[in-house]
Amino acid sequence: MHELAIAGHVVDIAARHADGRTVTKVFLKVGHLRQVVPSALSFSFDLVAQGTTVEGAEMVLEEVPAAGRCQDCGTESVLKSFPLLCEACGESNLQITRGEELYVESLEMEEQQNNEELIADR
Ligand SMILES: [Zn+2]
Repeated sequence: MHELAIAGHVVDIAARHADGRTVTKVFLKVGHLRQVVPSALSFSFDLVAQGTTVEGAEMVLEEVPAAGRCQDCGTESVLKSFPLLCEACGESNLQITRGEELYVESLEMEEQQNNEELIADR
């Protein structure tokens, strides 16, 4: 399952950057061409995050529309559907410029201050 593998990587990355802090939100950029099903990814993420510092975090997914530059006429088209065709000349000879993204853009974590208070209470 495609989404489960991606979720595994996302949780790994988030946990590594959190460095022991509790992650509350994970902001993810996903290009349209990755053909990720957001609901499936969200479900997988919750599953994989269990027992890690990322458990209970909300996954915020931002989809990046695909775009490509026509190799024949040089027009850059935003691609809304398959097959990918140039908006100007209708050719399919496009070089993809956007839409293949797949990365963790940022993390939101519990304030460091909270952790300090917790430690002081012990
Ligand atoms: Zn063209």
